[in-house]
Amino acid sequence: MTHTDQSVAPAASPEAESQARDAVSEVEPYEFTEIAMPIIAMHVLALFAFIPEFITGTNVLLLMISLVVFSNGITLGYHRLLTHKSLRVPKWLEYGYVGLALCCLQESPAKWVSTHRRHHSHSDEPDDPHSPTASFWWSHVGWLLWKRKGQHEFRTDDRYCADIIADPFYALMEKYPDLPAGIYILHAGVIWLLASALFLVDNSFVSAVWQGAGLVLWCVVLRTVMIWHFSWSVNSLTHCFGYQNHKTSDQSRNNWLVAIVSNGEGWHNNHHHDPASASVQHKWWEFDATYLQIRVLKRLGLATHVIEPRQFRKGSVEPDNPSRLNKQTG
Ligand SMILES: [Zn+2]
Ligand SMILES: [Zn+2]
Repeated sequence: MTHTDQSVAPAASPEAESQARDAVSEVEPYEFTEIAMPIIAMHVLALFAFIPEFITGTNVLLLMISLVVFSNGITLGYHRLLTHKSLRVPKWLEYGYVGLALCCLQESPAKWVSTHRRHHSHSDEPDDPHSPTASFWWSHVGWLLWKRKGQHEFRTDDRYCADIIADPFYALMEKYPDLPAGIYILHAGVIWLLASALFLVDNSFVSAVWQGAGLVLWCVVLRTVMIWHFSWSVNSLTHCFGYQNHKTSDQSRNNWLVAIVSNGEGWHNNHHHDPASASVQHKWWEFDATYLQIRVLKRLGLATHVIEPRQFRKGSVEPDNPSRLNKQTG
């Protein structure tokens, strides 16, 4: 293992850059994906949260709390639990985390897992769905907005998500692709209803519904858009800016800013070095909030088969899980 500490990302090889450019040249510039308009609409809607009467201490506090709670659906649920099988939890708890993830409007479990496993298998190569070797904005959000040749085949590729589709609940979401969005809208409606009911104590009906709408704009719409950008930053910023603890075959970096906003996922070079590990903390200062939660779950007896970092499982058999699709690194 080679140890490096670089603050500037080295340029990709001319060959890799040329291949990546060729891949992006397959983008048909006027052909949006079916999720492009909802993504744009959510950003526009989020701006309405800043109508002065909606900017209240309660809404700001609830936004903070909801950011912490719901982002776990992505980092612990979709990423470490479903994609990398870094731990096991009871099914009811797994569905709980997946439920939180569905409330973040980031695609179905099978599609999210499929995309991310493909990223690990082809990191910063032409088949990577979101490499910044193509362009920074492509890796951040462009890949979600524009169609690219082959992009939609891989999302249902059994090689990447057969184990997820084997679950009847997750399979249902592939059979009925509108179901994840339906669950998201339902949760927003329930929050609006509950908030309006609470505001009704001191307000007229119209005023209560209006203030309930303000709360939904902060705690659902703005929260969703913020978690999108936090997740997308793991694809863009941490493949461009930061330092490396490990020489991996990709451009992954450790980025403290992304680590703060993404519950530890910003220690991305550590993660690419050892994708199966439940922890991405390799230095004492690399705080991994998601792993802290995993430790609490383990202490409570709710998490088992927690995969320790590679250095602690030396000599033991590598875990047999779908992370074997990952490129060999380090
Ligand atoms: Zn990556
Ligand atoms: Zn990963």
